[in-house]
Amino acid sequence: MPNNTYNQELFKQFNISSMEEYEKLSNSFGRFGLSVQTVVDAVKSACDFFNIPMPRLIQDCSDDKNGQTMFVNYNSGSYEDDVLCINLNQLVDLRIETIEDFYLVITHECAHRVLQNTRFPGVNNGIWEQELAADYLMGCRAGLHNMNNSKILVSMFLTPGSYSHPDGMIRALFVRDAKFRVIEMRDNSIPLTIPNLLNEFMACRQKYLQEIQECQQKYYRF
Ligand SMILES: [Zn+2]
Repeated sequence: MPNNTYNQELFKQFNISSMEEYEKLSNSFGRFGLSVQTVVDAVKSACDFFNIPMPRLIQDCSDDKNGQTMFVNYNSGSYEDDVLCINLNQLVDLRIETIEDFYLVITHECAHRVLQNTRFPGVNNGIWEQELAADYLMGCRAGLHNMNNSKILVSMFLTPGSYSHPDGMIRALFVRDAKFRVIEMRDNSIPLTIPNLLNEFMACRQKYLQEIQECQQKYYRF
């Protein structure tokens, strides 16, 4: 293996200490057509979009039956201790199959890092709103970077909801609206700060509040 395919930074990022562990990780991602560097690049570009540091650790959970692709928060006051878990088997199940979709999923997870200190209104401490806001910020990136999100919208659309995640049908509405709205904001010279984007998200939530609440009655019976 040429020397430039791995380095100390990569070892640190994945908390591995030997070439054997690196090979194992490389093979795990390789089954999905991804290199270790591609995964790091996806995370780095999402972090750069939000202007936040890399997470402390990227954890491959692809062979963990209960492993989820998710951001694990420790101290909500810090970005430095964030952990990003990636389960590529789960992403395949969710029909995430292209590199662009993978970049968007990682953007959603990094949006959770940005929102780790933000409280939203809504049922169950706004747990659905957290997801919708992460989707909204992902849609903003898709709009600003002109990323093709048509496939991820279809995948989302087909994904049922749960008590923690809204039905894909609703999530897709937020991605679509964000993609459109962020371009309008840019063209009207409205600063694309997180607070400004979250104001737009809240307006979008207001617009779809009835749909959200009707949908929630499937999971929250009260
Ligand atoms: Zn999420």
